[in-house]
Amino acid sequence: MKNSWIEDFPQLNKGLIYFDSAATSLKPYTVINSVNYYNSDLSTNIHRGMYKTAIQTTNLYEKTREVVARFINSKPNEIIYTRGTTSGLNLVAFSYGINNLKKGDEIIVSELEHHSSFLPWQRVSKLTGAKLKFVPLNKYGRITVEAFQSVVSNRTKIVALTYVSNVMGFMTPIEEIINIAHEYNAKVIVDAAQAIQHKSIDVKKLDCDFLAFSGHKMLGPTGIGILYGKANLLENMEPFEYGGDMNEDVFKDASTWKSIPQKFEAGTMPIASAIALSKAIEYLEKIGLGKIHEYEMKIYQYAINRLNLIEGITIYNKNSDTGIISFNIDNVPSHDAITFFAEKDIAIRAGQHCAKLICDWLGINSCLRASFYIYNTEEQIDEFLSVTKEAIKYFKELGF
Ligand code: PMP
Repeated sequence: MKNSWIEDFPQLNKGLIYFDSAATSLKPYTVINSVNYYNSDLSTNIHRGMYKTAIQTTNLYEKTREVVARFINSKPNEIIYTRGTTSGLNLVAFSYGINNLKKGDEIIVSELEHHSSFLPWQRVSKLTGAKLKFVPLNKYGRITVEAFQSVVSNRTKIVALTYVSNVMGFMTPIEEIINIAHEYNAKVIVDAAQAIQHKSIDVKKLDCDFLAFSGHKMLGPTGIGILYGKANLLENMEPFEYGGDMNEDVFKDASTWKSIPQKFEAGTMPIASAIALSKAIEYLEKIGLGKIHEYEMKIYQYAINRLNLIEGITIYNKNSDTGIISFNIDNVPSHDAITFFAEKDIAIRAGQHCAKLICDWLGINSCLRASFYIYNTEEQIDEFLSVTKEAIKYFKELGF
């Protein structure tokens, strides 16, 4: 399978087989060049200076907001820059959740949640007395509409669910769930950290109340993320962080805040990363998310069909919806197995992937995760399969 995108990713020149895109994606030249351009040619703050480069920087920073808004079909003022998915989800929990929940209310989450979509709500639950409820997963570990229906009620005030699981790669039927949740007047917060790079997302069509994602998993730089929120909700929320650039007027006894989105962007933001995020989005749009998903699923299918035939491993997600395979070499702790792959320059990940609840559900301490994206090839999968076979043999001989 020919892949003409590989040349855009300089990180691949170092001989590493990179199967860790669910942790963070590689970055194409256009993104790298954009970060470099800001640092070498601009290096100025936003919204403050009146000199030429300061204005240029502000324009690029605000232009990116428009690019993101177009990308997910929102209004620009509904786009808040954050540090990443984690800070976006915390913002919602501690600005919206704390102020709108009380004892007797319920928050629906699932065992598929990444810790950043679960722990803020666990904390909010402890602080407000609202009860956490879990959508029961089906026998494969999926969230289904029927299972959601079995837990939603008039007490449900918050539904915080992952769009795509970072361990199983399963896609949640989020649109149907949002429709049902809204019948009960609940607000839905979507963790799109593992969805935004695989699927075109239209927040107006989804009708989600909040949606968070990270730049670094979608070919962008680290340190930048996006929180989308419906304007009427954001306008009525308290700021999450207080400081420079978010206030309208400051007095000794009380102060006022700017309107959205500035209200939520206190202090100096990750300007270089924000600006470069527009280049990542343009890169994704140029190829097209449909084509990206199709390519990555071909790679996944090629890998899973062959991995399925190998004896001595257990695969936990044989029907993933994205390019993620979670597995273990039988009787070998994942942190031992990972060293074998690392020595062969294959970058896969071992551990609980910040999603301990799904590991508990699977009945495992941890697992290996290989995750694929557009710059991976069938040749790399062949190498990975042969190293997997070697690893099985190696650990068996060691007496594992
Ligand atoms: N949710 C999911 C599903 C994720 O995979 C991740 C990253 N592993 C996060 C949230 C958190 O993203 P970040 O670390 O960029 O804040």
